[in-house]
Amino acid sequence: MLGILKHRLTGPAVSFRATPNVGGALRPRYLLLHYTAGRTLESAAESLCTKKPQGNASAHIVLGRDGRIVQLAPFNAVTWHAGVSQWNGLDGLNHHAIGIELDNAGLLHREGERCVSWFGKAYPDSEVVVAEHRFGGGLQPWHHYTEVQIERALQLCELLVAHYGLEDVLGHEDVARGRKLDPGPAFPLAAVRARALGRGADVPVRLVVVAPRLNIRSGPAAEHPKLAPALKRGTELLLLEPRDRWSRVAVVGDTDLEGWVCNDFVTRQAATRSGPAVLSRTQRAVPLPTRATPRTPR
Ligand SMILES: [Zn+2]
Repeated sequence: MLGILKHRLTGPAVSFRATPNVGGALRPRYLLLHYTAGRTLESAAESLCTKKPQGNASAHIVLGRDGRIVQLAPFNAVTWHAGVSQWNGLDGLNHHAIGIELDNAGLLHREGERCVSWFGKAYPDSEVVVAEHRFGGGLQPWHHYTEVQIERALQLCELLVAHYGLEDVLGHEDVARGRKLDPGPAFPLAAVRARALGRGADVPVRLVVVAPRLNIRSGPAAEHPKLAPALKRGTELLLLEPRDRWSRVAVVGDTDLEGWVCNDFVTRQAATRSGPAVLSRTQRAVPLPTRATPRTPR
């Protein structure tokens, strides 16, 4: 079990290594997730503990692919992970957020058949997620996050949100839009956020298909194969994993069908069993963009 004592994490596979790259006092309001775009947990920690002529970087936590955690600064000290950033009327998120760096090579590129990181390491297909970033850019290869790493990130987020009463769990991509892509589409940020904020688990959110026909696909983009004949208007869906443009859903009824649908062609079903307070909390946790006129099903 992870815990916090005097702004330091306690628990199994947790170590502390003090970075010199710290600022003044921090009263955290947000949690900001990153990928390291690096080789290993050790190399990332080393880099974030080094003073550099071109500018110092740090974070509170580096989380390894095997679930190991290295804390680099207490949670009540400013670290330098956000750079130029804005959120909710605030400028410079370093002064408002705890930073967690996830050991991950980040956006890869293709060299022939291989997917290669910026530092020249090739990754096998089993470690690559091909997906489009929620802010566009088409399908690209991304280094995957391990299950144990995601589970540990979730525990960490739940603990920090509860301990410090944090308002939200964000990605660097949210607060430095257009400049940063991390943690990117390989990380289930929406699901982790919903669970860490204690929403989402309350009442399952139901959606209804509003287009005459809607394809259900194996991934969150129109390029992914269809999993079944198109869903008809009025089909009820259970929301499993909301994202900006597509959501993973389960078809309500006696099928085992689960897949991705485009958010433009579904709408939230009015809750019948849940009270209005619970519904509004859930709605805040999983906003779906609304569009007045549904276009052609994708
Ligand atoms: Zn970042």
